[in-house]
Amino acid sequence: MTSIDQAARRTDFAVVGGGLVGRLVAWQLAGAGHHVALYDRGDESGTQSAAWVAAAMLAPLAEATSAEPLVVALGAASLEKWPGVLVQLPEPVFCQRNGTLVVWHHADRAEAPLFERRLRANAPAALLDGGFLKLAGAQVAQAEPALGTRFAQGWLLPNEGQLDNRQALKALSAGLAERGVRTHWNTSVDAMLEARWIIDCRGLGGKPALPALRGIRGEVARVHAPGIGLMRPVRLLHPRYPLYIAPKENDLYVIGATEVEGEDLSPVSVRSALELLSAAFAVHPGFGEARILELNSQCRPTLPDHRPAILWDGVRTLRVNGLYRHGFMIAPEVANAACELADALASSAATTQDAFAEFRSNARWPELLHGAFAVAHAAP
Ligand SMILES: Cc1cc2nc3c(=O)[nH]c(=O)nc-3n(C[C@H](O)[C@H](O)[C@H](O)COP(=O)(O)OP(=O)(O)OC[C@H]3O[C@@H](n4cnc5c(N)ncnc54)[C@H](O)[C@@H]3O)c2cc1C
Repeated sequence: MTSIDQAARRTDFAVVGGGLVGRLVAWQLAGAGHHVALYDRGDESGTQSAAWVAAAMLAPLAEATSAEPLVVALGAASLEKWPGVLVQLPEPVFCQRNGTLVVWHHADRAEAPLFERRLRANAPAALLDGGFLKLAGAQVAQAEPALGTRFAQGWLLPNEGQLDNRQALKALSAGLAERGVRTHWNTSVDAMLEARWIIDCRGLGGKPALPALRGIRGEVARVHAPGIGLMRPVRLLHPRYPLYIAPKENDLYVIGATEVEGEDLSPVSVRSALELLSAAFAVHPGFGEARILELNSQCRPTLPDHRPAILWDGVRTLRVNGLYRHGFMIAPEVANAACELADALASSAATTQDAFAEFRSNARWPELLHGAFAVAHAAP
């Protein structure tokens, strides 16, 4: 038995993978009184995770143009839940609910009705009601003064939000310490642990157990641009390079993101850097004087149906994966659902096929939950 196994045996739950979901799950289980250990092959800051690179926009309505209804519903519910999570963490996290602004250049105006049609077709009425405001002329400048008269039209989605991904990872790490979670950073776990219950939150690193999982590469730029003063994430419609600019604290902007099939974790390409930065420059010429702090890439962990999944192997492992491009947007609800199932398994309330089926039928998000007997994605 390895020293990792020896440590794991002393815990109720061994959480493997401490990116976004793993940290949340470990923190919540520890808060419920369980003994929890967390293992991550990367460092405490989370630099090996997709969460480290993400823009962390919480935008279920804007995402409804392409996301599954389940994801949109999880996103809407999680948007309400984030403040309650953050307030319990021992360190502050920038979290804003100031909406999303969608704009487009005149040459790309054909994109606008397509976007609107998809949004209206896919979004639940509750999100659309008061959540989608058409702006024209001076209204764009009123909503986002930094853009002046550059855009003749736009849409304000006033209920959406964003947070600072790196502050969230750091605050969660402090929260883990506060709740007594035994953390093992820089510790890769590639074989089954000798723990009572294992929760596999390895993101793309979980592919050996979930061969259907794939990576979708995303590239972002982080720039420092004093004096621009965007007040909320701005999305630019474009036929080939849809882009967002997410303003964080202290004039920091996350500009993203490409979406490329494949698990290529190499540095950002010149083409992508040019596309991202020139699109930002076209939104506001002030980005010409911005300082590039970082160009970075990561892969979004994605299942074939582009939906997240919580998979129980029927024995002692839960896998939480497939959060794709919506991890921050949906994490509070997904982590909560995983913890409820973990609790039920630990208290022997769902450990047979029938009991699991009953638990699933009473769960808030039954579509998230899959047992080994009904698993479409897991390895045999
Ligand atoms: C460019 C980009 C932009 C994004 N923008 C947004 C956005 O605006 N809004 C949004 O909601 N989402 C966004 N996302 C998506 C979000 O980042 C992911 O959905 C989320 O990070 C997935 O969380 P996770 O915990 O499953 O995986 P990760 O965050 O990747 O964490 C997985 C962890 O597992 C660890 N690990 C892997 N293998 C092992 C192993 N063998 N042993 C131990 N540890 C292991 C890794 O080190 C990592 O820390 C974006 C993603 C990218 C790449």
